[in-house]
Amino acid sequence: MLIGIDLGTTNSLVACFRNGTAEIIPNRLGENLTPSVVSVDSKGTVYVGRSAKERAMLHPLESASVFKRSMGTDREYKLGDWTLRAEELSSLVLRSLKEDAESYLGEPVTDAIISVPAYFNDLQRKATKRAGELAGLNVVRIINEPTAAAIAHGMAAEHDARYLVFDLGGGTFDVSVLELYQPIMEVHAIAGDNFIGGEDFTDVLYGLFLQCAGAAPESLDLKTRSEVRKSAEACKCAFSDKDEITMCCAIRGQMHIMQLTLEEYERACAPLLDRLRKPIERSLKDAGVSLQQIDQIVLVGGATKSPIVRRFVTKLFGRIPCFGVNPDEAVALGAALQCGMRSRDKEIQEVVLTDVCPFTLGTEVMVDNGAFEEPGHYLPIIERNTVIPVSRTETVCTAHDDQTRITVKILQGESRMSQNNLLLGELSVPVPAGPKGKEAVDITYTYDVNSLLEVEVFVHSSRLRRKILIQGNQSRLSQEEAEKRMEALQYLKQNPRDEEPNRLVLLRGERLYEEATGETRRAIDRAMLEFDRALKKQDRGQIQRAREKLTQFLDEIEHGQ
Ligand code: AMP
Repeated sequence: MLIGIDLGTTNSLVACFRNGTAEIIPNRLGENLTPSVVSVDSKGTVYVGRSAKERAMLHPLESASVFKRSMGTDREYKLGDWTLRAEELSSLVLRSLKEDAESYLGEPVTDAIISVPAYFNDLQRKATKRAGELAGLNVVRIINEPTAAAIAHGMAAEHDARYLVFDLGGGTFDVSVLELYQPIMEVHAIAGDNFIGGEDFTDVLYGLFLQCAGAAPESLDLKTRSEVRKSAEACKCAFSDKDEITMCCAIRGQMHIMQLTLEEYERACAPLLDRLRKPIERSLKDAGVSLQQIDQIVLVGGATKSPIVRRFVTKLFGRIPCFGVNPDEAVALGAALQCGMRSRDKEIQEVVLTDVCPFTLGTEVMVDNGAFEEPGHYLPIIERNTVIPVSRTETVCTAHDDQTRITVKILQGESRMSQNNLLLGELSVPVPAGPKGKEAVDITYTYDVNSLLEVEVFVHSSRLRRKILIQGNQSRLSQEEAEKRMEALQYLKQNPRDEEPNRLVLLRGERLYEEATGETRRAIDRAMLEFDRALKKQDRGQIQRAREKLTQFLDEIEHGQ
């Protein structure tokens, strides 16, 4: 069975294509969104999703979130005794989604289509693919999130149209200009910023609160910081229904209160909103279309639920964006539709997807500046927003007399000087010594539909051919190290599925107990003991009733409901 996965910065979703439609698969708690949070206890039990998010409040040093931002890097996260990289943490989220899908569908899930931000570079895409493999999934395709979202909207729409997909997730922002002229969905341009998202809007509120409370962030312990952040997140979301919020949090035992209007919050977010303009302008310019030529503006990503973001988009485009598909679910649904097309489901009209390479790929060369040959210049080979799959060749020559090797630097980026671009890898070939400029090599870059780059160098004189598939940071991790990590991952055991709701309520109870004092504390203790007693009886019906009772009690304490 093939599933579609939206592996998000804050939340992840899994979906499938069945009975002629795409459907979201609920997780073990019956919810569509699984927070992309991982927590590991000292015994090596892994918590994923809502229970991990809950556990992170009490055990921040054993938990990790927002790790999608570090995909494809060497950054290591310490979770208690465990050290994990972003792709390994992601694999734990994927493993959990895979299990949920298997239990929902009642059959094994082997293959997946996983979405990534359009602006993910080659290393980040490969890390995503590896995360899938570590989770026991064969990743048959990596699909760009906005493309998936546009498929979801395109399928819902009757007519051909030109779309601008405005995707503001937890940690990334992508803008894409696409056109649907049935049966072809063509991506015209992609632009984005990997370092702006809903979390930054939470940070603004967090900063305002600490400023109001007169507390320097670095002076607070981790637990207080995560409590204030959680409250900031809740208040940010509350702006969807209210024009004014009241944020209260205890800092060093003293309660602080801040009142803020939507207008004040909007003003504080102005620099962030300003940063959203640039990728929009660039994508329109690259696609060669004007604002007026866009038929529909599609909002994707949780952060587009914010009224200030919606107001910004409406003002900028002079029209109201469309809300046809839930912004949280569009990407996963699009990935599932892609699953349907891939398995040639007769219920679904095939849409031929054409995608573009979102960034320029090139190499480093010397250029003649009139006086001498200046090194370190960038030679673009595949220009950004070229339709993929694509293969392009450039020929370069030896730069010095008696040169015996040509080293091809594989670079990604838009800067004129190669040092400002991202080095993806190097490929070196021997060439016969001779005068400068005599030996020539062809450098061929091939970029496939999964946006995986293959580089081939061909030496004209010796007919030597050398090829590499950019393997991301695997080159920095020895085989032995990689195997050790695999073993460690196997050791980490996922929480049993059916115990998840019980664990969640226990973790929540523990947290609220720590946060409370006096009589409330004693009441929580009594309620938890009662639930413990029900658990020991091992009767499912009794456990469920006790859990519902405890949940209601905790809701009353936390939200006064
Ligand atoms: P995603 O990665 O698409 O799941 O987006 C998650 C981001 O959306 C997080 O930063 C959330 O705080 C944010 N978000 C979710 N709901 C709302 C809301 N009602 N208002 C503002 N931001 C929201």
